[in-house]
Amino acid sequence: MTYQSLKGFPDILPDAAAGWRRLESVIHELARRFGYGEIRLPMLESTDLFARGVGEGTDIVGKEMYSFLDKSDPPESLTLRPELTASAARAFVQHSMAQAQPITKWYYIGPMFRYEQPQAGRFRQFHQFGLELYGSPNPEADAEVIIAGAELLRMLGLTNYKLRLNSIGTAEERAAYRTALLEYLTPLSGDLSQESVRRMEKNPLRVLDSKKAEDIRATADAPKILDVLQEESREHFERVKGLLAASGVEFTIDHRLVRGLDYYTRTAFEFQGLDLGAQDALGGGGRYDMLIEQVGGKSTPAVGFSFGMERLLIALQHAGLAGDMAPEEDVYVIGLDDASRAWAATATAEFRAAGLSAECDLLRRSMKAQMREANRRGARAVVIVGGDELAGRHAQVKDLASGDQKAIGFDDLLGELKGLLARPAAPHTVPAPVQPDRTEPISES
Ligand code: AMP
Repeated sequence: MTYQSLKGFPDILPDAAAGWRRLESVIHELARRFGYGEIRLPMLESTDLFARGVGEGTDIVGKEMYSFLDKSDPPESLTLRPELTASAARAFVQHSMAQAQPITKWYYIGPMFRYEQPQAGRFRQFHQFGLELYGSPNPEADAEVIIAGAELLRMLGLTNYKLRLNSIGTAEERAAYRTALLEYLTPLSGDLSQESVRRMEKNPLRVLDSKKAEDIRATADAPKILDVLQEESREHFERVKGLLAASGVEFTIDHRLVRGLDYYTRTAFEFQGLDLGAQDALGGGGRYDMLIEQVGGKSTPAVGFSFGMERLLIALQHAGLAGDMAPEEDVYVIGLDDASRAWAATATAEFRAAGLSAECDLLRRSMKAQMREANRRGARAVVIVGGDELAGRHAQVKDLASGDQKAIGFDDLLGELKGLLARPAAPHTVPAPVQPDRTEPISES
């Protein structure tokens, strides 16, 4: 019996994990610069939290949640987190953050679960990085979050994207807009896709979101939400735009950007990758001033975003920026006979304790095979010891980048290796081929 991973639940193998770690380290650095503290939230929450916090009318709650009844009596319905904004809001309220400090800034990284149809760039278990900023109703907060998103992409070296921006107003403004939009859409419902006709009932704004040609055509002259905003929302939006422009963050206004989630107010934005195919949203977010109250807290304004980490990695690959992520080994220690192998194992442990990444042969292979292995692993140096070296208490140290090789006394080995590793490995030069070309003859075991 063999097993396969579940559809849409990919394994991340070590070569790929190196890219993940690099992405994560950029995220941690971004969060440090912007002053966000990391929050690690549970995988499971009560189903009700997401139903309230994400919204009954959304695709996520309607059809994508991994929900099940647990073993308690009576059973409780639990859900694997499909996103983290609702969980973070729950934690914000639970830990009385509003009383602790005027502004709370959190970030998170981790897996989310949605029962979606897997395709390129879309998984059932995927990872998000998100920021949440609680406590400020002001456009400076919206701008900070959006600038942080743009800065993440800049730090990663990604430029092939578009930032789309819109304001979807307050709940009251949106209610008025909804009526106006329904009036416009109802006579056109024959021209809309079936999905949009269904969406019209629950959330007509989502019709604007549709990528289907017939929906785009039918909504070309639809009223725009920006046109129905009141003074305050209008000023808020102008200020956000001004702050982005002043920071050199380019954006385009997109009247169709309404975001899929119910809890947004005013600013909505999306970073759209331009070479990602159908699943092109790198990340998105907006202001959500009503959520904290909805999950039982005191009304607190908030703004945030989340990025899909798989999408960021795909974009890095497309940009040719994923290649230099593979980790390289510092040193491979080669022992040629039984006693030398024992020495190699001990030396490897000592090098590791001193902070080097070190490896030695565990298969008792020939010198030639060990050399090949050192090359395959991308080792920077090899340390070679045979019977003569053991007797003379020295080892051959070969810099695989330059090809230089010399005999070094055991007591000086660590210092020599550290010095060698500190020297740049001359980027873009092909490492000298590793041959078992000993300066002194050594009999292979
Ligand atoms: P959302 O929470 O739906 O606004 O999604 C935020 C980001 O998460 C999106 O912009 C995508 O980059 C990513 N994302 C959402 N759903 C998936 C999925 N099923 N697979 C991979 N990435 C996803």
